[in-house]
Amino acid sequence: MNKIEHIGIAVKNLNNAIDCYEKILNSTCYKTEEVESESVKTAFFSVGENKIELLEATNENSAIAKFISKKGEGMHHIAFAVDDILMEMNRLKNEGFVLLNENPKQGADNKLVCFVHPKDTNGVLIELCQEIK
Ligand code: ZN
Repeated sequence: MNKIEHIGIAVKNLNNAIDCYEKILNSTCYKTEEVESESVKTAFFSVGENKIELLEATNENSAIAKFISKKGEGMHHIAFAVDDILMEMNRLKNEGFVLLNENPKQGADNKLVCFVHPKDTNGVLIELCQEIK
């Protein structure tokens, strides 16, 4: 794993959260993107070499909607940048971790992503992400 690529934060209202994080970070959101397959709208901020990803559900079946109804708004996942997502997925599977998707998925911000089940990771949802070249 190369670095923390981004931290994902589940929010109820993306526009309000963008206003809030623009103030906190004193920078502008550089990208918003809807990921239809995940039923989320996302907004990205750069913080040095890392990013903050805000996520709002677009329907109640979205994982983000379920997370917020259970736990409320807040930190949702940590994403680690990897060079070879298939290799890292295999490595973690062999270590006994449960992956939430069998194959890499197209994620936001031009990434291939895979999530690791939080039951094995001390309650933290971990995302692997590889830049699509
Ligand atoms: Zn993410």
